Amino acid sequence: MNNFDKNIFDCLILGGGPAGMSGALYCSRANLNCAIIDSSALGGAPANYCEIENYLGFNRIEGAELCERFEEHINNFNVQKFPFEEIQSVELTSDIKKITTEDKELFAKSIIIATGAKPQKLNVKGEKEFFGRGVSYCAVCDGAFYKNKITAVVGGGNSALEEALYLTRFCDKVYLIHRRGEFRADKIIQKRIFENKKIELVLNSVVEEIIGDNKVQGIKIKNVSNNEIKTLVVQGVFPYIGLSPNSELFTNQLQTDEKGFIITDNTMQTNIQGVYAIGDIRNTPLRQVITAVSDGAIAGVSVSKYLMNIEKGAVHESISL
Ligand code: NAP
Repeated sequence: MNNFDKNIFDCLILGGGPAGMSGALYCSRANLNCAIIDSSALGGAPANYCEIENYLGFNRIEGAELCERFEEHINNFNVQKFPFEEIQSVELTSDIKKITTEDKELFAKSIIIATGAKPQKLNVKGEKEFFGRGVSYCAVCDGAFYKNKITAVVGGGNSALEEALYLTRFCDKVYLIHRRGEFRADKIIQKRIFENKKIELVLNSVVEEIIGDNKVQGIKIKNVSNNEIKTLVVQGVFPYIGLSPNSELFTNQLQTDEKGFIITDNTMQTNIQGVYAIGDIRNTPLRQVITAVSDGAIAGVSVSKYLMNIEKGAVHESISL
Protein backbone atom coordinates (compact mmCIF):
# COMPACT_ATOMS: atom_id res chain seq x y z
CA MET A 1 0.00 0.00 0.00
CA ASN A 2 1.38 3.44 -0.80
CA ASN A 3 0.35 6.79 0.63
CA PHE A 4 -2.10 7.46 -2.22
CA ASP A 5 -4.12 4.39 -1.27
CA LYS A 6 -4.67 5.16 2.36
CA ASN A 7 -6.59 7.79 4.22
CA ILE A 8 -4.19 9.68 6.45
CA PHE A 9 -5.81 11.61 9.26
CA ASP A 10 -4.24 14.84 10.45
CA CYS A 11 -4.77 13.60 13.98
CA LEU A 12 -6.02 10.39 15.57
CA ILE A 13 -7.17 10.70 19.15
CA LEU A 14 -6.94 7.52 21.18
CA GLY A 15 -9.58 7.63 23.89
CA GLY A 16 -12.93 9.41 24.00
CA GLY A 17 -13.12 10.72 27.55
CA PRO A 18 -13.24 14.43 28.39
CA ALA A 19 -9.56 14.90 27.45
CA GLY A 20 -9.94 13.20 24.07
CA MET A 21 -13.20 14.97 23.24
CA SER A 22 -11.67 18.34 24.12
CA GLY A 23 -8.64 17.55 21.93
CA ALA A 24 -11.03 16.63 19.09
CA LEU A 25 -12.96 19.88 19.48
CA TYR A 26 -9.79 21.96 19.19
CA CYS A 27 -8.45 19.90 16.25
CA SER A 28 -11.71 20.08 14.31
CA ARG A 29 -12.05 23.82 14.91
CA ALA A 30 -8.54 24.15 13.44
CA ASN A 31 -9.98 22.43 10.35
CA LEU A 32 -7.97 19.28 10.90
CA ASN A 33 -9.19 15.92 9.69
CA CYS A 34 -9.43 14.09 13.02
CA ALA A 35 -11.01 11.01 14.56
CA ILE A 36 -11.50 9.53 18.00
CA ILE A 37 -10.99 5.81 18.62
CA ASP A 38 -12.30 4.26 21.84
CA SER A 39 -12.64 0.69 23.05
CA SER A 40 -16.14 1.52 24.33
CA ALA A 41 -18.66 4.34 23.96
CA LEU A 42 -17.44 7.91 24.30
CA GLY A 43 -17.47 9.39 27.81
CA GLY A 44 -14.52 7.86 29.62
CA ALA A 45 -14.27 7.34 33.38
CA PRO A 46 -16.33 10.40 34.46
CA ALA A 47 -19.39 8.85 32.79
CA ASN A 48 -19.39 6.60 35.87
CA TYR A 49 -18.87 9.34 38.47
CA CYS A 50 -21.91 9.98 40.63
CA GLU A 51 -21.73 13.77 40.76
CA ILE A 52 -19.20 16.38 39.78
CA GLU A 53 -19.26 19.71 41.54
CA ASN A 54 -15.84 21.11 40.67
CA TYR A 55 -16.36 21.59 36.93
CA LEU A 56 -16.66 25.33 36.52
CA GLY A 57 -20.08 26.50 35.40
CA PHE A 58 -22.01 23.61 36.95
CA ASN A 59 -22.88 23.61 40.65
CA ARG A 60 -23.56 19.91 40.45
CA ILE A 61 -23.88 17.65 37.46
CA GLU A 62 -23.91 13.88 37.06
CA GLY A 63 -20.77 12.59 35.37
CA ALA A 64 -22.80 10.85 32.65
CA GLU A 65 -24.70 14.04 31.82
CA LEU A 66 -21.55 16.14 31.57
CA CYS A 67 -19.99 13.56 29.22
CA GLU A 68 -23.17 13.51 27.10
CA ARG A 69 -22.95 17.29 26.80
CA PHE A 70 -19.31 17.00 25.71
CA GLU A 71 -20.28 14.51 23.02
CA GLU A 72 -23.23 16.62 21.83
CA HIS A 73 -20.80 19.53 21.55
CA ILE A 74 -18.29 17.70 19.35
CA ASN A 75 -21.13 16.30 17.24
CA ASN A 76 -21.51 19.83 15.86
CA PHE A 77 -18.03 19.61 14.39
CA ASN A 78 -16.28 17.38 11.93
CA VAL A 79 -15.00 14.64 14.22
CA GLN A 80 -15.07 11.09 12.96
CA LYS A 81 -15.77 8.52 15.67
CA PHE A 82 -14.70 4.89 15.97
CA PRO A 83 -16.31 3.64 19.19
CA PHE A 84 -15.95 0.02 20.37
CA GLU A 85 -12.61 -0.36 18.57
CA GLU A 86 -9.99 -2.07 20.68
CA ILE A 87 -6.54 -0.85 19.68
CA GLN A 88 -4.14 -3.75 19.23
CA SER A 89 -0.91 -2.02 18.31
CA VAL A 90 0.56 1.40 17.66
CA GLU A 91 3.53 2.53 15.61
CA LEU A 92 4.42 6.02 16.72
CA THR A 93 7.99 6.61 15.69
CA SER A 94 7.54 7.20 11.95
CA ASP A 95 6.30 10.47 10.47
CA ILE A 96 3.08 8.71 9.57
CA LYS A 97 1.78 6.89 12.63
CA LYS A 98 -0.15 3.63 12.34
CA ILE A 99 -2.89 2.37 14.65
CA THR A 100 -4.13 -1.18 14.25
CA THR A 101 -7.45 -2.41 15.63
CA GLU A 102 -9.05 -5.82 15.12
CA ASP A 103 -10.38 -4.89 11.68
CA LYS A 104 -8.80 -1.55 10.80
CA GLU A 105 -5.47 0.03 10.01
CA LEU A 106 -5.60 3.77 10.56
CA PHE A 107 -2.88 6.28 9.71
CA ALA A 108 -2.24 9.78 10.99
CA LYS A 109 0.29 12.58 10.90
CA SER A 110 -0.14 13.07 14.65
CA ILE A 111 -1.55 11.17 17.61
CA ILE A 112 -3.13 12.34 20.84
CA ILE A 113 -3.15 9.64 23.52
CA ALA A 114 -6.04 10.01 25.96
CA THR A 115 -6.63 6.43 27.04
CA GLY A 116 -6.93 7.32 30.72
CA ALA A 117 -6.37 5.09 33.69
CA LYS A 118 -8.02 2.13 35.38
CA PRO A 119 -8.75 1.44 39.06
CA GLN A 120 -5.86 0.05 41.03
CA LYS A 121 -6.48 -3.36 42.58
CA LEU A 122 -6.17 -4.17 46.26
CA ASN A 123 -4.40 -7.40 45.32
CA VAL A 124 -5.86 -9.36 48.23
CA LYS A 125 -7.35 -12.83 48.34
CA GLY A 126 -10.97 -12.84 47.23
CA GLU A 127 -10.78 -9.65 45.14
CA LYS A 128 -10.54 -11.41 41.78
CA GLU A 129 -12.73 -14.36 42.81
CA PHE A 130 -15.64 -12.15 43.92
CA PHE A 131 -15.42 -9.55 41.15
CA GLY A 132 -19.01 -9.07 39.96
CA ARG A 133 -20.28 -11.01 42.98
CA GLY A 134 -19.79 -8.32 45.61
CA VAL A 135 -16.56 -6.67 44.48
CA SER A 136 -17.11 -3.65 42.24
CA TYR A 137 -15.04 -0.69 41.08
CA CYS A 138 -18.10 1.34 40.09
CA ALA A 139 -20.57 2.49 42.74
CA VAL A 140 -22.65 4.34 40.14
CA CYS A 141 -23.04 1.18 38.04
CA ASP A 142 -23.67 -1.26 40.89
CA GLY A 143 -24.77 0.76 43.93
CA ALA A 144 -28.48 0.11 43.41
CA PHE A 145 -27.88 -3.65 43.87
CA TYR A 146 -26.98 -2.96 47.49
CA LYS A 147 -30.29 -1.52 48.67
CA ASN A 148 -30.62 -2.01 52.45
CA LYS A 149 -27.28 -3.84 52.53
CA ILE A 150 -23.93 -3.14 54.16
CA THR A 151 -20.94 -2.24 52.00
CA ALA A 152 -17.32 -1.20 52.44
CA VAL A 153 -15.45 1.42 50.46
CA VAL A 154 -11.66 1.35 50.56
CA GLY A 155 -9.48 4.45 50.09
CA GLY A 156 -9.01 7.98 51.33
CA GLY A 157 -9.08 10.09 48.14
CA ASN A 158 -11.88 11.99 46.40
CA SER A 159 -13.16 8.89 44.63
CA ALA A 160 -13.53 6.78 47.79
CA LEU A 161 -15.26 9.50 49.77
CA GLU A 162 -17.56 10.63 46.97
CA GLU A 163 -18.59 7.09 46.12
CA ALA A 164 -19.10 6.20 49.82
CA LEU A 165 -21.51 9.13 50.06
CA TYR A 166 -23.24 7.96 46.90
CA LEU A 167 -23.69 4.44 48.31
CA THR A 168 -25.50 5.81 51.38
CA ARG A 169 -28.44 6.52 49.04
CA PHE A 170 -29.01 2.76 48.90
CA CYS A 171 -27.14 1.05 51.72
CA ASP A 172 -28.09 0.84 55.39
CA LYS A 173 -24.45 1.26 56.32
CA VAL A 174 -21.16 2.00 54.55
CA TYR A 175 -17.78 1.30 56.15
CA LEU A 176 -15.07 3.64 54.89
CA ILE A 177 -11.77 1.84 55.32
CA HIS A 178 -8.58 3.84 55.02
CA ARG A 179 -4.99 2.88 55.69
CA ARG A 180 -4.15 6.15 57.47
CA GLY A 181 -5.78 8.32 60.12
CA GLU A 182 -6.54 11.19 57.75
CA PHE A 183 -7.99 11.53 54.29
CA ARG A 184 -6.46 13.21 51.28
CA ALA A 185 -9.88 14.00 49.74
CA ASP A 186 -11.09 17.61 49.46
CA LYS A 187 -12.11 19.04 52.85
CA ILE A 188 -15.66 19.80 51.68
CA ILE A 189 -16.24 16.09 50.96
CA GLN A 190 -14.61 15.05 54.24
CA LYS A 191 -17.09 17.28 56.10
CA ARG A 192 -20.02 15.51 54.41
CA ILE A 193 -18.53 12.14 55.31
CA PHE A 194 -18.14 13.08 58.99
CA GLU A 195 -21.75 14.32 59.09
CA ASN A 196 -23.26 11.25 57.44
CA LYS A 197 -24.73 8.88 60.02
CA LYS A 198 -24.70 5.89 57.66
CA ILE A 199 -20.92 6.02 57.29
CA GLU A 200 -18.65 4.34 59.80
CA LEU A 201 -14.97 5.18 59.56
CA VAL A 202 -12.46 2.36 59.89
CA LEU A 203 -9.14 4.18 59.98
CA ASN A 204 -5.54 2.97 60.09
CA SER A 205 -6.78 -0.27 58.60
CA VAL A 206 -6.11 -2.34 55.52
CA VAL A 207 -8.09 -5.10 53.86
CA GLU A 208 -6.43 -8.49 54.30
CA GLU A 209 -8.99 -10.69 52.58
CA ILE A 210 -12.45 -10.62 51.04
CA ILE A 211 -14.44 -13.61 52.20
CA GLY A 212 -17.64 -15.32 51.18
CA ASP A 213 -19.19 -18.40 49.76
CA ASN A 214 -20.67 -17.71 46.35
CA LYS A 215 -20.90 -13.97 47.03
CA VAL A 216 -19.08 -11.55 49.30
CA GLN A 217 -20.08 -12.02 52.94
CA GLY A 218 -17.37 -10.08 54.73
CA ILE A 219 -13.88 -8.64 54.81
CA LYS A 220 -10.96 -9.29 57.10
CA ILE A 221 -9.22 -6.08 58.04
CA LYS A 222 -6.03 -5.40 59.93
CA ASN A 223 -5.53 -2.38 62.14
CA VAL A 224 -2.02 -1.25 61.22
CA SER A 225 -1.51 0.52 64.58
CA ASN A 226 -1.97 -2.61 66.74
CA ASN A 227 -2.06 -5.45 64.15
CA GLU A 228 -5.50 -6.49 65.38
CA ILE A 229 -7.49 -8.45 62.80
CA LYS A 230 -11.26 -8.30 62.67
CA THR A 231 -14.02 -9.33 60.30
CA LEU A 232 -16.70 -6.95 59.10
CA VAL A 233 -19.91 -8.36 57.71
CA VAL A 234 -20.50 -6.71 54.33
CA GLN A 235 -22.22 -7.72 51.10
CA GLY A 236 -20.26 -5.40 48.85
CA VAL A 237 -16.70 -4.06 48.59
CA PHE A 238 -15.78 -1.01 46.51
CA PRO A 239 -12.02 -0.38 46.27
CA TYR A 240 -11.14 3.20 45.28
CA ILE A 241 -7.40 3.25 45.93
CA GLY A 242 -6.13 5.24 42.96
CA LEU A 243 -5.44 4.75 39.31
CA SER A 244 -2.98 2.93 37.12
CA PRO A 245 -2.45 4.20 33.57
CA ASN A 246 -3.75 2.46 30.44
CA SER A 247 -0.33 2.85 28.86
CA GLU A 248 0.70 -0.75 28.13
CA LEU A 249 0.47 -0.18 24.36
CA PHE A 250 2.88 2.72 24.48
CA THR A 251 5.50 1.99 27.12
CA ASN A 252 8.05 0.52 24.71
CA GLN A 253 7.93 3.70 22.60
CA LEU A 254 7.21 6.51 25.02
CA GLN A 255 8.91 7.85 28.11
CA THR A 256 6.89 7.24 31.27
CA ASP A 257 7.34 7.71 35.00
CA GLU A 258 7.88 4.74 37.31
CA LYS A 259 4.13 4.05 37.48
CA GLY A 260 3.70 4.13 33.67
CA PHE A 261 2.14 7.62 33.36
CA ILE A 262 3.34 9.25 30.12
CA ILE A 263 5.72 12.19 30.45
CA THR A 264 5.01 15.27 28.32
CA ASP A 265 6.30 18.79 27.96
CA ASN A 266 3.99 21.76 28.54
CA THR A 267 2.63 21.52 24.97
CA MET A 268 1.51 17.94 25.88
CA GLN A 269 4.10 16.50 23.46
CA THR A 270 5.75 13.24 24.45
CA ASN A 271 9.34 12.26 23.66
CA ILE A 272 8.19 11.56 20.07
CA GLN A 273 7.43 14.47 17.75
CA GLY A 274 3.77 14.63 16.77
CA VAL A 275 2.68 12.34 19.63
CA TYR A 276 0.84 13.95 22.54
CA ALA A 277 -0.59 12.61 25.81
CA ILE A 278 -3.39 14.19 27.81
CA GLY A 279 -5.70 13.59 30.76
CA ASP A 280 -5.34 10.85 33.37
CA ILE A 281 -2.69 8.93 31.42
CA ARG A 282 -0.31 11.87 31.63
CA ASN A 283 2.20 12.38 34.41
CA THR A 284 0.28 15.29 35.92
CA PRO A 285 -0.14 16.71 39.44
CA LEU A 286 -3.95 16.83 39.18
CA ARG A 287 -6.42 14.42 37.60
CA GLN A 288 -9.81 16.11 37.26
CA VAL A 289 -12.27 16.60 34.41
CA ILE A 290 -11.35 20.28 34.26
CA THR A 291 -7.61 19.56 33.91
CA ALA A 292 -8.31 16.82 31.35
CA VAL A 293 -10.25 19.18 29.07
CA SER A 294 -7.53 21.79 29.54
CA ASP A 295 -4.89 19.24 28.45
CA GLY A 296 -7.05 18.48 25.40
CA ALA A 297 -7.23 22.14 24.43
CA ILE A 298 -3.46 22.56 24.69
CA ALA A 299 -2.82 19.38 22.70
CA GLY A 300 -5.29 20.40 19.96
CA VAL A 301 -3.49 23.72 19.48
CA SER A 302 -0.07 22.02 19.65
CA VAL A 303 -1.08 19.53 16.95
CA SER A 304 -2.27 22.35 14.75
CA LYS A 305 1.07 24.19 15.09
CA TYR A 306 3.03 20.97 14.55
CA LEU A 307 1.17 20.24 11.30
CA MET A 308 1.67 23.81 10.08
CA ASN A 309 5.40 23.41 10.67
CA ILE A 310 5.37 20.16 8.73
CA GLU A 311 3.68 21.90 5.83
CA LYS A 312 6.35 24.58 5.84
CA GLY A 313 9.21 22.08 5.92
CA ALA A 314 9.76 18.73 4.27
CA VAL A 315 8.64 15.64 6.14
CA HIS A 316 9.76 12.26 4.97
CA GLU A 317 7.44 9.39 5.63
CA SER A 318 9.62 6.48 6.55
CA ILE A 319 7.05 3.89 7.59
CA SER A 320 6.95 0.76 5.45
CA LEU A 321 3.35 -0.21 4.81
P1 NAP B 1 -6.11 9.04 44.93
O1 NAP B 1 -6.45 10.46 45.09
O2 NAP B 1 -4.77 8.67 44.40
O3 NAP B 1 -6.32 8.34 46.35
C1 NAP B 1 -6.05 6.98 46.52
C2 NAP B 1 -6.35 6.62 47.97
O4 NAP B 1 -6.18 5.21 48.13
C3 NAP B 1 -5.41 7.31 48.95
O5 NAP B 1 -6.12 7.71 50.06
C4 NAP B 1 -4.41 6.21 49.29
O6 NAP B 1 -3.96 6.29 50.61
C5 NAP B 1 -5.24 4.95 49.15
N1 NAP B 1 -4.45 3.81 48.74
C6 NAP B 1 -3.54 3.74 47.73
N2 NAP B 1 -3.04 2.49 47.63
C7 NAP B 1 -3.64 1.77 48.59
C8 NAP B 1 -3.56 0.39 48.98
N3 NAP B 1 -2.75 -0.46 48.35
N4 NAP B 1 -4.31 -0.02 50.01
C9 NAP B 1 -5.13 0.84 50.65
N5 NAP B 1 -5.27 2.13 50.32
C10 NAP B 1 -4.54 2.59 49.30
O7 NAP B 1 -7.13 8.24 43.99
P2 NAP B 1 -8.68 8.49 43.66
O8 NAP B 1 -9.44 8.94 44.82
O9 NAP B 1 -9.11 7.26 42.93
O10 NAP B 1 -8.64 9.64 42.61
C11 NAP B 1 -7.86 9.52 41.41
C12 NAP B 1 -7.73 10.88 40.79
O11 NAP B 1 -9.00 11.30 40.29
C13 NAP B 1 -7.28 11.92 41.79
O12 NAP B 1 -6.41 12.80 41.15
C14 NAP B 1 -8.57 12.60 42.19
O13 NAP B 1 -8.40 13.92 42.64
C15 NAP B 1 -9.34 12.53 40.90
N6 NAP B 1 -10.78 12.59 41.17
C16 NAP B 1 -11.39 13.76 40.97
C17 NAP B 1 -12.75 13.90 41.23
C18 NAP B 1 -13.40 15.20 41.00
O14 NAP B 1 -12.72 16.14 40.64
N7 NAP B 1 -14.71 15.34 41.19
C19 NAP B 1 -13.47 12.82 41.71
C20 NAP B 1 -12.80 11.63 41.93
C21 NAP B 1 -11.45 11.53 41.65
P3 NAP B 1 -2.97 7.47 51.11
O15 NAP B 1 -3.81 8.68 51.24
O16 NAP B 1 -2.45 6.93 52.40
O17 NAP B 1 -1.92 7.56 50.05
